[in-house]
Amino acid sequence: MITIYFESFGGGFSPFSDLEKEMLRQAFSHAQIHCQKAYNASLSSFKRHRSELQLWFGNSKNITILHVISSIRKMHIVVFNPKIFITFVDARERYIQRGDLEFDTVHDAPSQEDNHFLKYQQGTRTIVQDNQTAFVNCISWSDHDAGCSNHVGLGMRVYVGHAMFSESSSPIKRSQTVIHELSHKILGTVDINLAGNLVYGERNCQQLAKTSPEQAIKHADCLAFFINSIEKKSYCSIL
Ligand SMILES: [Zn+2]
Repeated sequence: MITIYFESFGGGFSPFSDLEKEMLRQAFSHAQIHCQKAYNASLSSFKRHRSELQLWFGNSKNITILHVISSIRKMHIVVFNPKIFITFVDARERYIQRGDLEFDTVHDAPSQEDNHFLKYQQGTRTIVQDNQTAFVNCISWSDHDAGCSNHVGLGMRVYVGHAMFSESSSPIKRSQTVIHELSHKILGTVDINLAGNLVYGERNCQQLAKTSPEQAIKHADCLAFFINSIEKKSYCSIL
């Protein structure tokens, strides 16, 4: 069992309700199930998922398969490591100054199809927006073996914004957001294309895969959509 904690962002505002806590616990447990299914699929080198590899990473070449297998296995080890703990931090209504947070912070709105949300610039004071789902302080584990102790003390904090609980959200979107955010921490994934522009959402990620497969395999949303597509396929095959 992974321990899940809930924290306020320095106090002074409403913490998660019981219902919201339950939604976040469920999002993490679904993320675990989805990582397990992706791990199972990786054991046969994604033989049944070549079209999904093509869709989210631009090709199903051996080098891509090996990279994705490695990513999925690292994610799988961490989300099932009983020593780690996940902390969801309520970041709604909070003003963030980029320098307030340690390390580089990844600000996300992965549920957005376009990039109209506020662009965060170094040193600017800004608010966690209505359309923001979650964000993390990003420390890449890419130079370490997954399961190293870096994150144990840090509690894998995921800062949660309004959009996590909005009407347009859903259990599948919430678990996909958790996978997306944890991939930043575990794999050092990015949200940008080669030109440095933010890329989120189904349509934009498929475009990224077509134009820049080498970037798509490092991209948080591409990985999260890929894991989600394996889950969807496994669900469909049961029916
Ligand atoms: Zn992100």
